Amino acid sequence: MSNNSVPKIKRFAIIGFPLQHSVSPRLHNRAFKDYGMKATYEKMPIPPEEFEARILQLKREDWGGFNVTIPFKERIIPLLDGVEKTARAIGAVNTIKCDRGRWLGFNTDWLGFLRPIEWKLDDFKHCLILGAGGAARAVAFALIRLKNVKSLIIANRTMHRAELLVNDLQRFGSTASISAAHLNSLMPFSQQKFDLIVNSTSVGMNDPLATPVIDPKPLAHSKTLIYDLIYKPPETGLLKRAKKLGLRTLNGYAMLVHQANAAFEIWTGKPYLPVTLKSLLR
Ligand code: NAP
Repeated sequence: MSNNSVPKIKRFAIIGFPLQHSVSPRLHNRAFKDYGMKATYEKMPIPPEEFEARILQLKREDWGGFNVTIPFKERIIPLLDGVEKTARAIGAVNTIKCDRGRWLGFNTDWLGFLRPIEWKLDDFKHCLILGAGGAARAVAFALIRLKNVKSLIIANRTMHRAELLVNDLQRFGSTASISAAHLNSLMPFSQQKFDLIVNSTSVGMNDPLATPVIDPKPLAHSKTLIYDLIYKPPETGLLKRAKKLGLRTLNGYAMLVHQANAAFEIWTGKPYLPVTLKSLLR
């Protein structure tokens, strides 16, 4: 058999720092195996100070695609050869498809975020997002596209980052009122109460004992949903506190699976979920 007839193994990876928490290799390797595809998916931790140099080096190699996670979803954009319309609007990329050496950026987080709650989207009129990083951008973009969302507050530790996101969102001409706040000064909003509070900060990630990023008690009513994008640990300090208060809670696992599903489809043209579920059935 000549070398030309040996099918090449396609390589995929997740780029981020730190990456211990990531279960993406497990999800994608399973789907590749279920489909019988010759492909591998690995973790590629890149220290922030080496980011640009390492990406330029990777661009000279042969890759099928990447996922991008904390803290690089915004920083990757200037290094790409093209960015799909929605990802450009969001200002964050979590999926890259390498097409004959051209790196094209996509965002599947916004869809992954909406899927697990799509059956109750009508409930969410007043929403609070904690954080203003790459994941918060996708969540905010998803929420302002919903007709019934009347108000959206973006609260972040670094105020100017929240203000920047609010400015970007206002360009879409949404009828919702959108404003920025500091994470430590949310009390003025306690009169209003939120229907949905989303934690898109990394506070609590890999640390079940971390102090919750905020106390939801003064900001929640009896039906508020506390949605933490973190999936490891499955119950963060914020979700534990919310449960104690009798609030509805959701962690980030379903979002993870849905964003992975959409990324897998971008890379392979095939759906991820059906084949993986099928492999689990008797
Ligand atoms: P990112 O771009 O690095 O943003 C991190 C955010 O966390 C920023 O708003 C940052 O605030 C805030 N933050 C970090 N440390 C903090 C602290 N000690 N106190 C208060 N705020 C702090 O990261 P990302 O990509 O948006 O990811 C954020 C989280 O969402 C991560 O835990 C990630 O795993 C999770 N996520 C989950 C999924 C899923 O599928 N379930 C998808 C995407 C993301 P500053 O601006 O002040 O630094």
